[in-house]
Amino acid sequence: FNAYLNGRFAPLDSLAISPMDRGFLFGDGVYEMIPVYGRHVFRLDQHLDRLDTNLAAIGLTNPHTRSEWHKLISRLVNEEIFEDQQIYLQVTRGVAWPRNHAFPAATTPTVFLFADELPAPAREQVETGVSAITIEDLRWQRCNIKAISLLANVLAKQAAVDAGVAEAILLRDGQLAEGAASNIFIVKEGILRAPPPSTQMLTGITYDVVIELAQAHGIPVELAAISEAALRNADEVLLTSSSKEVLAITTLDGLPVGTGSPGSLYRQLFLYYQDFKTGVMRA
Ligand code: PLP
Repeated sequence: FNAYLNGRFAPLDSLAISPMDRGFLFGDGVYEMIPVYGRHVFRLDQHLDRLDTNLAAIGLTNPHTRSEWHKLISRLVNEEIFEDQQIYLQVTRGVAWPRNHAFPAATTPTVFLFADELPAPAREQVETGVSAITIEDLRWQRCNIKAISLLANVLAKQAAVDAGVAEAILLRDGQLAEGAASNIFIVKEGILRAPPPSTQMLTGITYDVVIELAQAHGIPVELAAISEAALRNADEVLLTSSSKEVLAITTLDGLPVGTGSPGSLYRQLFLYYQDFKTGVMRA
């Protein structure tokens, strides 16, 4: 069993969802991607807190108690063959007809989870950094909700792939929002800077971890709006996400960031992050 759907654990390819599911028809749902290292779930309660907030934001009652979520996730983690895993978790507003945009009177949310291998970021990406492009942020005004309706993110990421780079950095009104599937930090004169949590970006669990690690190690952190010019003139640019951890962006729109190699703050944060992961595994 590496998946779960509405009360049933089963192999992923044996599960089926109604075409009338509002997740399928409207993208009406929210999700989480939770990393697991050595079968220890990373920051589980922070992910479940964010799920609570997102469900409340879209007017859905959480279908499970915290301890039910813990049980569901540990069963998937224990039955999956890989030690390092990603748990994908999605809750939609369920099946309803006739098709109608407005919320149905009564629905049972669809709860879907699966476990898969979590490959570590490629060694080359860690050592030399990755390239990114900038792109206009065409998304809505509720980007803090981890919604499954990801079309604008999909198009931004594909623009990055078409440009032969790893990530698209979204700019809105001349300011840095985030990556298509990551949060973005910059370093200027030894200060780690990022946009503060707002409706313009998802507050990443990894974003929070990196800020905590920086503060714990005496690195100055400043959460304030970042202009496009500040992004382009940064000494370092970093991306964070549950699957990529923390990576240096060393080329932006074809130009080198700083020296063009991963910088010293990136190297420190990378090591702190690895230590922190190892600590979680030992706990
Ligand atoms: N921003 C967006 C748009 C994302 O899709 C993601 C994760 O995939 C993140 C930020 C980073 O969030 P987290 O660190 O919780 O993975």
